[in-house]
Amino acid sequence: MTRQAPTRIVVKVGSGVVAPGGRLDLDAVGGIAREIAAARDRGCLVVLVSSGAVAAGFRDLGLGAMPASIREKQAAAAVGQPRLLAAYADALRAHTLVPAQVLLTADDFDNRQRFLNARHTIETLLGHALVPIINENDSVAFDEIRLGDNDRLSALVASAIGADLLVLLSVAPGVIDKTTGKVIAEFTDTDAARAHIDVSKSDTGVGGMATKLDAADIALEHAVPVVIAPGRPEGGADPLAPILDGEAVGTRFPVPVDKRGPGARKSWIAFSTQTRGAIIIDDGAARALRDKGASLLPKGIVSVEGRFDVGAPVEIRTNDGALVARGLTTYASHELERVKGSRSDEIEGVLGYAYAPEVVHRDDMHVPGDTA
Ligand code: GLU
Repeated sequence: MTRQAPTRIVVKVGSGVVAPGGRLDLDAVGGIAREIAAARDRGCLVVLVSSGAVAAGFRDLGLGAMPASIREKQAAAAVGQPRLLAAYADALRAHTLVPAQVLLTADDFDNRQRFLNARHTIETLLGHALVPIINENDSVAFDEIRLGDNDRLSALVASAIGADLLVLLSVAPGVIDKTTGKVIAEFTDTDAARAHIDVSKSDTGVGGMATKLDAADIALEHAVPVVIAPGRPEGGADPLAPILDGEAVGTRFPVPVDKRGPGARKSWIAFSTQTRGAIIIDDGAARALRDKGASLLPKGIVSVEGRFDVGAPVEIRTNDGALVARGLTTYASHELERVKGSRSDEIEGVLGYAYAPEVVHRDDMHVPGDTA
C-alpha cells in the first residue's frame, strides 16, 4: 500500500529538545522552524506542540534544576513561555512565517464548546498561514486541571483537528528493543511496544516513553498514525522530511486496520454519536448534500428542532422527515434560528460573528450511502 503524504500534522517537541539543561537551544529551535517551513513548502500544514516553558524559565527563579513544586513550575512557565515563543518567532521569521500561541488546559477538551472554540482557532490560524504553537497553560493550570504532559496534549490536538500524522520528537530515538538495543521501526499495537519499555526508568523529559505510548493510544483511536522519533538525531539531520516521506525514522505506529480509511471519523459520527436535535432543510439543500458532496449552508435551513450547543451531533432531515445526514453542527440551535435562510456571507451581519460559512461541514457529516 502506498502511503499518501500527510497534509496536516501535529509535531510535538519535548523540553529536552528545545531547552536541554534549562537553557533554550536556539539551534534546535531554528531547526524546528526550518522543518516547519520545509513541510509547508511541500503542502503540509504543521501545528507545533512545544514543551519547554518550565525548562526555559526555571533558572530565573534561581533554581539549578527543574522545579518539583507546582507553584515554582507555574512561575517558571510564566517566565519561560514568552521566551520560548520569542525564540520561535525569531526562528520562523527567517522563513517569513509567523507563530501564534495557543495555551490550553484540560478543561478545554472536556468542555465541548471550549474544545470547538480551540479547534476553530487552530483551523483559522492554519487558514491564515500562521503557525499555531501550542502548550499547556502551565502558569494557571494547577494539579487537578492539568493535562500534565504534552504527549497527551498533542494527541488530543491531533485528534481534534483530524491530523493525518502525529510526530513526537524527543530525546529518545524511538522504542528500543529490550534485547538487541536497536530501535524498532514499526509496531502494529502499542502493547507490544510497552513490553520493551522500562516504566520505572524516567528519562529527561516530563513524559518518558510510557506517556508517549499512552498518547499514541489516543491518536490511533482517532485514526491518527504516530511516529516517535529523535528531535536531535545524531549527525544533525532534520528528522521531519524523511518522516513525511514515509522513511523509517524512529518508531512508527500505523493506524490499526479496523480504524483505517477516510470513513473512520464519519462512521464515528454515523454510529457512535447520540443526536441532540435536528436541522430541517429544503429539497435543494438535500440534493446538494446527497448528490454533490456539499456542506450544509444556512441558506438551505427551513427550521430547527431541539436545543443544542455548538458541536452537537444532529440529524439533518427534509420537511417530510427523511433522514439526509448526521453531522456535528458548527452553530448552536439558537444561532441557527437566527441565520436560517441567510447566505453564508450574511452570518456575521446577523450574529455579529461567524465561526464558519458552513453550518455542518462536509468533513463533520455522514450521509448514508457515502463511501467516505
Ligand atoms: N508544558 C510543559 C512545559 O512547557 C511541559 C510538559 C511536557 O513536556 O509534557 O514546560
